[in-house]
Amino acid sequence: MADPKGFLKTRERELPPRRPVSLRLMDWKEVYEQQESGELRRQAGRCMQCGIPFCHQGCPLGNLIPEWNDLMHRGEGRLAIERLHATNNFPEFTGTLCPAPCESSCVLGINQPAVTIKQVEVSIVDQAFERGWVQPHPPQRLTGKTVAVVGSGPAGLAAAQQLTRAGHTVAVYERDDRIGGLLRYGIPEFKMEKSRLDQRLNQMIAEGTRFRAGVEIGKDIAWDELRRRYDAVVVATGALVPRDLPIPGRDLDGIHYAMEYLVQANKAVAGDDVPGQITAEDRHVVVIGGGDTGADCVGTAHRQGAASVTNLAIGRQPPATRSDSQPWPMSPTVFEVSTSHEEGGHREFLASTVEFVDDGNGRVQSLRVAETEYLDGRRVPRAGTERLIPADLVLLAMGFTGPEQDDLAGQLGVPFDQRGNLSRDDRFQTSEPGVFVAGDAGRGQSLIVWAIAEGRSVAAEVDAYLEGRTELPAPVRPT
Ligand code: SF4
Repeated sequence: MADPKGFLKTRERELPPRRPVSLRLMDWKEVYEQQESGELRRQAGRCMQCGIPFCHQGCPLGNLIPEWNDLMHRGEGRLAIERLHATNNFPEFTGTLCPAPCESSCVLGINQPAVTIKQVEVSIVDQAFERGWVQPHPPQRLTGKTVAVVGSGPAGLAAAQQLTRAGHTVAVYERDDRIGGLLRYGIPEFKMEKSRLDQRLNQMIAEGTRFRAGVEIGKDIAWDELRRRYDAVVVATGALVPRDLPIPGRDLDGIHYAMEYLVQANKAVAGDDVPGQITAEDRHVVVIGGGDTGADCVGTAHRQGAASVTNLAIGRQPPATRSDSQPWPMSPTVFEVSTSHEEGGHREFLASTVEFVDDGNGRVQSLRVAETEYLDGRRVPRAGTERLIPADLVLLAMGFTGPEQDDLAGQLGVPFDQRGNLSRDDRFQTSEPGVFVAGDAGRGQSLIVWAIAEGRSVAAEVDAYLEGRTELPAPVRPT
């Protein structure tokens, strides 16, 4: 440990500067600048190297956080990336997109703001890519076994990289025209630039993973045909069914699911022609949903030139600071304003939409909204508080209910569980031998760090199924 008093010398939690709002609204580049190396080392040096590091408990991947904090503090970036990659295939994804449950668990958070674990993580991997330290790791030998991974989001990619490195011949199928799943088309560039995804895919291609974009399993290739072609199949198709808001006026024009909107926006930013694109330009936009996807819609609408943006959340406004009566660590992100909300617009909390109002031509004109109150343990509209909010574009960002009930069940006989997710045993395997499920398709909507952890774990189970033994790590079990 380089400096046991680092957390006493540097008491302030410092993140890198955000680019000025006026500049970043003119492009789609990431919001954060690189952190100056001296400040980064000071921040990493705030880690107390706890004997029992609770940050481990908070991280489904079991990231070796105190080890690489210490290495970064001492300027040992090359060793730091090795320790980071030991537990996490894609630290650039978690370092930009994860809400960092490790920081909520950081012991330093009891007395001071938590260590900037996520920032240290992304800085380690950025430096490693810049300096050429991230190299392909092709397998030493091939097993002769084949695996199909269906879905190219974080769970599918993690499973594919682990299995390829174990010597299996792996093909990743993606129904969209580009590889990456939600990382490609669900997340805006200003949260994570696609170059991060592409540089990792290049590494995977060099290791031998094969990618098949534009192929929909169940339609272009039947599930049972895929099962016959491969020795094992990993289903990592995500939980993409959006939660709806079935209230009067829901069928009016101008009301869309957030993911319809974000996918089209990402395709346009990638240079694609998107006929009939849903755009916020010159529109009064209302985003319903106070989570990350809602914030992504808000930031995208600002960049498209919306006339106004209002974000409705049914929950309470987060506190600006931790109260004295709450002594435990809390996620710093609770207190930090999201970059999208910093860019403008208006937020309303405890707001429930009760009706979409017609403009007389079948298009939404406004939302009838009420304040909410608790009744019998549920949040319900409070009588007498209704009012109208003008809107000619409404985006529904209220989360996802589960995986699509596609042809998988019919063609392979794989059932769904009571929560609507694909059913699997404690080894990630479905009722069909050799067919495994990983990520949101089995767990339900969750964090990117859980998806990567599930991808690593399912790879271990597939490897054991194919070889009778495995040395691959399995950081998590199915719920
Ligand atoms: Fe460092 Fe916080 Fe983890 Fe302790 S809990 S080892 S201070 S990051």
